[in-house]
Amino acid sequence: MSQAAPAFLRFDALTKSYDEVDAVRAVSLTIAEGEFVALVGASGSGKSTLLKCINRLVEPTLGRVLLGEEDVLAGPAAPLRRRIGYVFQGIGLFPHMSVAENIALGPRLEGEALPDARIAELLELVELDPAMATRLPAELSGGQRQRVGVARALAGDSHLLLMDEPFGALDPITRGQLGERVRRLHEELGLTTVMVTHDMAEALLLATRVLVMDQGQIVADETPQALLSGEGGEVAQALVAVPRAQARALAGISA
Ligand code: ADP
Ligand code: MG
Repeated sequence: MSQAAPAFLRFDALTKSYDEVDAVRAVSLTIAEGEFVALVGASGSGKSTLLKCINRLVEPTLGRVLLGEEDVLAGPAAPLRRRIGYVFQGIGLFPHMSVAENIALGPRLEGEALPDARIAELLELVELDPAMATRLPAELSGGQRQRVGVARALAGDSHLLLMDEPFGALDPITRGQLGERVRRLHEELGLTTVMVTHDMAEALLLATRVLVMDQGQIVADETPQALLSGEGGEVAQALVAVPRAQARALAGISA
């Protein structure tokens, strides 16, 4: 599977220590181009920290992150960050900027003005009416705001999309719809996607590969199919038990 394809993103003994804890402990991992990876685990297990080491919102303590052949720590952080699509935990739009200004912010910081036609195209990608470009975030629903968050992440023509609990604040129906849209965008745009979520059901439904984190380490690295057939060990199976019990309970009602 991933072993055969060339490495797109590689963690090499990556560690991030804070005073009290090692948030990420010696993680080594290779992700191939085109994978949709879900990073799952309990709160505090180190998911966000690992993700942010890729675009240097967090500076690692030890080890390396390679994007293709490039060591992400070798150059300045700001241009790197603008090349990598990033959907924030929570929503993270600037409230006093219009939808269009929010989407165009990254390119603008690079000295590039996004034409209106490109903003319209990005809004259409996330299935929003281009007429929403002039609205303020407060004039949108939560789901619409997060669609704008995804459009903004795609504005830099990035091939790597990082998402930190992107749908966590949304109602289940909106969450399902947006998850599916992101999955199709991943395929249509040929992206490599890493999505942090604490929701194993979401990971199993959207990802091609599920990494389970526990206390700063990757303790399982499996396909959804393998996890559902009982692979991955204790921590992973405890997470899989949650949607499985729900599915059983629902099947019991309908029987
Ligand atoms: P997750 O995203 O899985 O909930 P995090 O990566 O946010 O986990 O956090 C992992 C661990 O690192 C936690 O114990 C957290 O308290 C700690 N941590 C994260 N960020 C900081 C920080 N800026 N300063 C100190 N400790 C931090
Ligand atoms: Mg987090």
